[in-house]
Amino acid sequence: MATVTETYSPEETFEFGKKLGEEAVPGMIFCLDGDLGAGKTVFAQGFACGLGISEPVNSPTFTIVQVYDEGRLPLYHFDVYRIGDISEMDEAGYEDYFFGEGVCLIEWASVIEELIPENAVWIRMERDAQKGFDYRKITVD
Ligand code: ADP
Ligand code: MG
Repeated sequence: MATVTETYSPEETFEFGKKLGEEAVPGMIFCLDGDLGAGKTVFAQGFACGLGISEPVNSPTFTIVQVYDEGRLPLYHFDVYRIGDISEMDEAGYEDYFFGEGVCLIEWASVIEELIPENAVWIRMERDAQKGFDYRKITVD
């Protein structure tokens, strides 16, 4: 079952992420999909805030995964955009994160779709030029 949320500013997307971060429980995997600039990292920043993480969160550019330990639960923030081969996920030890005690947030998750467990939550972020520059449609299922 999909639910759709529409946001009209980065702040609203941040707040939406924050709400999900507040509600997250251990072992959850959130898959973020959407084009460059869709707002995946803005969502991740809100999500981290909802977990009680105050350090700055950005896309992990030089590593596949960035771990944030200071919140209510550990956050494993992935950006798999640059993955060339799925074996890089093994090298990063992804199973320890996917099946660990923290929460995973995976930007560009469709790149590694075959590794994503059935019970993951998919969050798709889309623009709509008709609705303005700052409009985003966020579909969760
Ligand atoms: P991604 O990680 O998907 O590549 P970012 O989160 O890094 O995207 O960037 C999203 C950009 O879009 C930011 O510059 C942000 O300020 C802008 N933006 C405008 N409107 C929104 C919105 N409604 N939700 C999220 N970001 C928005
Ligand atoms: Mg990003």
